[in-house]
Amino acid sequence: MALRKVAVMGNPILREVAAPVPVKEIASERIQTLIGDMVETMFEYDGRGLAAPQIHESLQVVVMLWDFDAGKEAYLKVLINPEIEFLTQKTSTYAEGCLSVPGLTGDVSRPNHIRVKAYNEKGEKTEFEAQGFAATVIQHECDHLIGKLYLDRMKDLKRLGFSKEYGRFLAQETTRNPRPEGD
Ligand code: ZN
Repeated sequence: MALRKVAVMGNPILREVAAPVPVKEIASERIQTLIGDMVETMFEYDGRGLAAPQIHESLQVVVMLWDFDAGKEAYLKVLINPEIEFLTQKTSTYAEGCLSVPGLTGDVSRPNHIRVKAYNEKGEKTEFEAQGFAATVIQHECDHLIGKLYLDRMKDLKRLGFSKEYGRFLAQETTRNPRPEGD
């Protein structure tokens, strides 16, 4: 495993549509090494998720720290060739940050209940539902696979700030109205 350089906004690789991984290649050394590098890089930079394009690999691979199950220990979730189905039109608003957009935090509203189909790191098909912040994190990471950044999803750039100022001035309002809202 190796620590990899993170591509930041402005790098065209973040705007490409990533290629799916052929399922029979998931077990290959190349993809397993990629997954290992992504995990190492995510932890090094204190991320809670990372998509392969963020380390200059235009492939549909996402790694996430999964700590959303109450009473269960956190573990790593790997999503390969993920597909998202929206189970509601209702959205929730959360503060998002991104290792590819360092130093900034902004509010994004996203559908708050989704179903995810993907392959895991062993090449097995998986399917599960996610709600709330977990649904947001998955959508954020999967957006990287279609060349989108969270800034593209923001409706109001006044809700974007440098992270320290976001914490001082903007976070309160988001916390005060953790608004599930009709959209
Ligand atoms: Zn990101």
